[in-house]
Amino acid sequence: MAFESLSERLGKALKNITGQGKLTESNMNDMLKEVRMSLLEADVNYNVVKEFIENVKQKALGQEVIDSVNPGQMVVKIVHDEIQELLGSADARLNLKKSGVSTLMMVGLQGTGKTTASAKIARFCKEKLKKRVLLVACDVVRPAAIEQLETLGKSIDVEVFSLGTQVSAVETARQAMGYAYDRQKDLVIFDTAGRLHVDEELMQELSQMKALVQPDDILLTVDAMTGQDIVTVAREFNEQLSITGLVVTKMDGDARGGGLLSVRSITNVPVLFVSNGEKVEDLEEFHPDRMADRILG
Ligand code: GDP
Repeated sequence: MAFESLSERLGKALKNITGQGKLTESNMNDMLKEVRMSLLEADVNYNVVKEFIENVKQKALGQEVIDSVNPGQMVVKIVHDEIQELLGSADARLNLKKSGVSTLMMVGLQGTGKTTASAKIARFCKEKLKKRVLLVACDVVRPAAIEQLETLGKSIDVEVFSLGTQVSAVETARQAMGYAYDRQKDLVIFDTAGRLHVDEELMQELSQMKALVQPDDILLTVDAMTGQDIVTVAREFNEQLSITGLVVTKMDGDARGGGLLSVRSITNVPVLFVSNGEKVEDLEEFHPDRMADRILG
């Protein structure tokens, strides 16, 4: 499970301080040192850790804490709240239109789980939000990607629009929009092309699609296992496309968690969903408070 080791180490660091009737500068510094090491070992970005520790220190040294009955427990709460703040202060959700056809572009590097996440989100919107969804296969370079989306679409009973590999992604998107309006769909999800690295050609294609479909959301899939690379990739996609949210995938693996903990405060893009398995139902809406609870045990 992701965060296992971070959770364990933070638990130990905080346990020492909860039992203390009084906070001394020395036990406070020991605790902060431990928390700092736990975060760095979980691969959280260095600047994020630095700011985190400064924030905790400032709040923990406040008069309210010093005067309280159990200062240790107040410090634990401060750490909890700061972790939640890192993950996002409120739940972020899809920007679906109240009526008419909403559009969602799924973008991401190859192998991060973009196609799988497209189907998972289609299923989520169909079942939980009662939307009529159309999936569109715009990764036209790889025939396997189209087939994969078609298979996934069948398994969740969501229609998949595809014009094969001979028609460009932008033209496919254009025709899919017409199809969606004709059939009164509520939501069109575009599974776009992935590449191994961010490149000019990919970004141009995605920008053209963005201009055409005017998406209500652009979600980037990032792989939790790639640690701080999440931040680099999110920054690049965000600069070029102004993404509206992130889907963090492969949270069922043993990711250390640093990427997820750093990405929001560095890019200011919220996490909307986490994916935690290969099956179509393995998707959860992201709740920063629940994730903070999980990390702090
Ligand atoms: P794409 O190239 O970005 O479209 O990635 P795919 O959706 O094809 O996924 C790549 C691989 O990762 C596939 O084998 C998926 O089954 C797998 N995968 C996707 N999401 C998850 C996840 O949350 N957990 C795990 N364990 N595997 C996943």
